[in-house]
Amino acid sequence: MNEQAIRTVVEEVIQQLLKKDSRPNTIPMAVSARHCHLSQADLETLFGKGYELTKKVDLSQPGQFAANETVVIVGPRGSIEKVRILGPARSLTQVEVSKTDAVKLGVNPPLRESGNIAGSAPITLVGPKGSIFKNEGLIIAQAHIHMHPEDAAYFAVENGEYVRIRTEGERPVSFEKVLIRVSPRYRLEMHIDTDEANAGFIISGQAGFLVKDGEPFVKPQHVTNLPSPEQKKPKEVQFQKNLLTKRDVEAWQYEKITVHKGTMVTPLARDAARELKKTIQVMD
Ligand SMILES: [Zn+2]
Repeated sequence: MNEQAIRTVVEEVIQQLLKKDSRPNTIPMAVSARHCHLSQADLETLFGKGYELTKKVDLSQPGQFAANETVVIVGPRGSIEKVRILGPARSLTQVEVSKTDAVKLGVNPPLRESGNIAGSAPITLVGPKGSIFKNEGLIIAQAHIHMHPEDAAYFAVENGEYVRIRTEGERPVSFEKVLIRVSPRYRLEMHIDTDEANAGFIISGQAGFLVKDGEPFVKPQHVTNLPSPEQKKPKEVQFQKNLLTKRDVEAWQYEKITVHKGTMVTPLARDAARELKKTIQVMD
């Protein structure tokens, strides 16, 4: 057998051994800590007239950023300091906390889709220049998946649909009723809060597996690997498994695959990456 044939056989054997790891139905997960979005008017009440947020770091969703500024949030039972403000300013002020945070604050916010705050829980925000009581705006964010329309086509789902996401690892969990949100402005990523992440020992960048109708989602035969459009820049989502195979490279949604130092990369995975113009970077 020549070298190429041996490689192919080795890859096949690995795929057989790791069949459950080869599904292309992975969605990168990101954990959202408590945070708030402020209207410009509320920002100025808390930080002073004409104040503008300063950027600490860009978030994965295009245009969104974490600001250097933080606020204190106060409820009837307790308060939480250093709650990160996410920018840019929005039309309505919204504070997103976990259920654990809500218990500490002594409030009972509803589970909501971001942006839907009518009739949600009241909260007080305190900034360096003032404080503000909001009659509504405190929510627990419902787990959701941001998707570009091309991702929605790939997974055969629609905006507003609910799916189930399963995780693997030491303490696997399933998320039911995960909302699909589709927009050309979105990049593929599932957002969960810290309670959900902690329950399943989940860290940002870990893969979730999309399950439809009780069966693991299988990529439709007629959909080939979608080219990365211009706006999809390389993204730092870390590959979590200890073995990177050709199938993983083909299924990966981004141009850059960051792996652990100990992750084994098969020769065919390297070939596939070269072919698909994806970069494999090893993290220390
Ligand atoms: Zn989100």
